[in-house]
Formats: sequence, C-alpha cells, structure tokens
Amino acid sequence: MFQSSYKIQSIIQLNPTTYSLVLDCAELANESWCGRFVNIRCGEKTLRRPISISEIDKANGTITLVFEVRGEGTEWLAARHAGDELDVLGPLGNGFFPDADKRAVFIGGGIGCPPMLGAAQEYGAKAEAILGFRSAKQMILLDKFKDCCQSVAVTTNDGSFGVKGFVTDVLKDKLSENSDCVVYACGPMPMLKGVADMCAQYGVQCYVSLEQRMGCGIGACLVCACKTQEADGTHMRHVCKNGPVFDAKEVDFDG
Ligand SMILES: Cc1cc2nc3c(=O)[nH]c(=O)nc-3n(C[C@H](O)[C@H](O)[C@H](O)COP(=O)(O)OP(=O)(O)OC[C@H]3O[C@@H](n4cnc5c(N)ncnc54)[C@H](O)[C@@H]3O)c2cc1C
Repeated sequence: MFQSSYKIQSIIQLNPTTYSLVLDCAELANESWCGRFVNIRCGEKTLRRPISISEIDKANGTITLVFEVRGEGTEWLAARHAGDELDVLGPLGNGFFPDADKRAVFIGGGIGCPPMLGAAQEYGAKAEAILGFRSAKQMILLDKFKDCCQSVAVTTNDGSFGVKGFVTDVLKDKLSENSDCVVYACGPMPMLKGVADMCAQYGVQCYVSLEQRMGCGIGACLVCACKTQEADGTHMRHVCKNGPVFDAKEVDFDG
C-alpha cells in the first residue's frame, strides 16, 4: 500500500456528471488488480473518498478512475486538471479474482460499471457484460466494454437505450439459457440483492463489490461494517479491509 502524491495525466468528462481520470502512479499500478480501490484526499475534507480502480496499464504506469459527482469531495475532484497532483492511498481492498476457466458475466449498474470494466478486460474475450443505467444520458464506457467483451447488453430504466428494464431481466434470460457461469457485479444495493437472489435461484456462483460509505479505508474504524452469514456464523466485516468484494451468498443484504 502506498500513500503519495501522484500526477493527473488526463481528466475528461464522460457525461454531465461523470469523469474519467488517468493517474500517473507506476508503483501503485504495479500492485493493482481489478476490483481494488484507492482512497483520495479531496481538498480540505478530513475523510478520503474511495474510488474503484477501473483500468490498469502497468506498462505505462497508470490507473484510470471513473467517478460521478455526488457531493463536495467528488465536485472538488472533477475540478482538477491534467498536471495537478492528488494525495492517494492505495491500492486497497481484496478485489476480484476472475476464474478464466469459467464463462463469466460482468454486471455493472451505473457508477458500478467502472470496476467491472477492469475485471472484464483482465478476463479476456470470453467475458459477457450486462450494463444498467437510468437512461441513455447516464451511459458510460459502452465502447470500452464492447472492445473487450464477447457480448454487451445494455438496459435502461426508461427504455431510452437497449432493453427497457433492469439488468436482472437480461440476467434471467441468460441464466435460463445456460447457467454454467460465474457472475461478478457492482452497483446499487437493490441491484446487487436482485442479482444475488437470481444467482442463488439458478445455483450460480456470484461475487459482489459493495460500495458502502467508508471512513478510514484501512479497517481502523467501523463506518463500513457489513453483516455476513458464513459457515461458522454471523460476522461484521469491514468493506474496506475484508472487501469490497464478497461472495454474494454470504452478504446479509437486509442486515
Ligand atoms: C469501495 C468503494 C469504491 C467506490 N468506487 C467508486 C467509483 O469508482 N466511482 C464513483 O463515482 N464512486 C465510487 N464510490 C462512491 C464514492 O466513494 C462516493 O460517491 C464519494 O465518496 C462521495 O463523496 P462526496 O464528498 O462527493 O459526496 P458526499 O458529500 O460524501 O455525499 C454526497 C451524496 O452521495 C452519497 N454517498 C456518499 N458516499 C456514498 C457511497 N459510498 N455509496 C452510496 N452513496 C454515497 C451520500 O449519501 C450523499 O447523498 C465508491 C465507494 C466505495 C466504498
């Protein structure tokens, strides 16, 4: 884990509220893999803001972060420019370990898509993606997913692009055709619960990345506690240290 100042190589706007930022950070890129995250100091804010590592380019020593402006921290981040330095702690968390021998379906909901992109790229051409957005205006990273995946399905809540409905509608069709696969998902909690329930119904292994509110990012506070049901009973896990990726069977989505 490193804590250092790293230079922004580029920052571009992807849609009205979402930005893609490439960070020059060779040592950090070298220790990164899909599903891990970094914790960024945003101006004078005491608590750092966690952002998933979307793409990793070890050859050029960069990582790409894709973030949505939600409040003061991400607003500050969106106002940075190429050449500015960021105080970054990372890489943090366990990340995904895609099993390349299995057919894999990567599911992203809104701003949950960026970590799925890195995972799909790492997995290779057999990856299948299902991306869900509120509407066509919020869509991000579609071309990048198309570049690395065998198939990409898009759902929008309002039907303005792709299938009208939710990612679970497409997942249901996929699993009823062929359930011999593993599913990786990141997105809002109700979506993750829906995906987890459907995978359980079809007996499919599913891993979810949780984006709980976080304090320290290194397991020292209890802000990101999450309840799990494991073979030896109930546990309170830290999303930052034990996750953010969990076996969906173990997550107590109602806890
Ligand atoms: C492991 C992890 C990875 C993440 N990866 C990404 C990413 O790749 N891209 C991205 O855009 N965001 C990501 N997030 C969420 C991001 O950290 C928050 O949106 C950000 O911290 C908000 O900070 P802010 O100061 O802009 O907003 P705040 O002023 O802190 O909050 C503004 C609004 O956002 C809500 N909010 C804040 N944090 C979260 C959260 N974690 N989940 C849901 N709602 C929240 C608040 O309730 C409030 O309504 C991730 C979070 C975690 C824990």
